[in-house]
Amino acid sequence: MRNKGTGFVILVMFLCIVGKLFGHAGKTIQDDTQIKTIHVSGNIYMLEGSGGNIGVSAGPDGVLMIDDQFATLSSKIREAVRKINPGEIKFLVNTHHHGDHTGGNKFFSEEAVILAHHNVRKHLSDNGEKQIPGLPIITFEDGLSIHFNDEEIKVIHWAGGHTDGDAVVHFQKSNVVHMGDQMFAGRFPYIDLNDGGDVQKYISNVEALLNKLPEDIIIIPGHGNLSTKADLRIFYSMLVETTDLIRLKIKNGVELNAILKEGLPDKWQDWAWSFISEEKWIKIVYTSFTR
Ligand SMILES: [Zn+2]
Repeated sequence: MRNKGTGFVILVMFLCIVGKLFGHAGKTIQDDTQIKTIHVSGNIYMLEGSGGNIGVSAGPDGVLMIDDQFATLSSKIREAVRKINPGEIKFLVNTHHHGDHTGGNKFFSEEAVILAHHNVRKHLSDNGEKQIPGLPIITFEDGLSIHFNDEEIKVIHWAGGHTDGDAVVHFQKSNVVHMGDQMFAGRFPYIDLNDGGDVQKYISNVEALLNKLPEDIIIIPGHGNLSTKADLRIFYSMLVETTDLIRLKIKNGVELNAILKEGLPDKWQDWAWSFISEEKWIKIVYTSFTR
């Protein structure tokens, strides 16, 4: 009995310590995230924090924002935007539905009109089952234009690459594009095969965007550093070379486990990151081409 009692006390102490450590660590991670503001060009800024990069157009008409990261960062993001421009955030564009791009929707919906592709609203509302605050209230199929801060801002749907609801936002006069998750600069991308994504389509979208975008455009990628077309070309090469390699192995009947064991050539090692390891990238490509 005594032993059991002692064991119980030790167990409770252990759980308290573990709980405290994890609770504390979790809190520290949240509290430490700083929002960094980068001036891109003219009226356009990029904000980095945790999650997808945020785009901002700030000028005489007020503020238009693209994506809003996680809910825990909303007030910090709001402060960072206020430092750029004291005006109201009038529009918020969601490039797609993932939580690291839409987590702040509820907070920002108090102030901004949220726009996105139909499928973003569909996913965020569980196919219309949930009427949560912060859903996009203007939705589109192929795209739309916002005439704001002295330029045309084209929001164009790029189907079936990263998800089934992605939009790329092109600031015509500023010559800046926000790619959403159609670009991960210098890192393996996440492609959401369960929500309408497809590796082959993702690559052809990138190829089409490379052909379409002006040579001197400045690119805000969904994740990674502010980029140029040269960076987008490197991203494209990585996509083509790694998927060609994996597809050849599939064609030759190599099993997933063997492909994982062989891995990718060393030159792509730096492309692995906290969210998408080399193994995860291989699995995404393999699944997309064998399903
Ligand atoms: Zn995403």
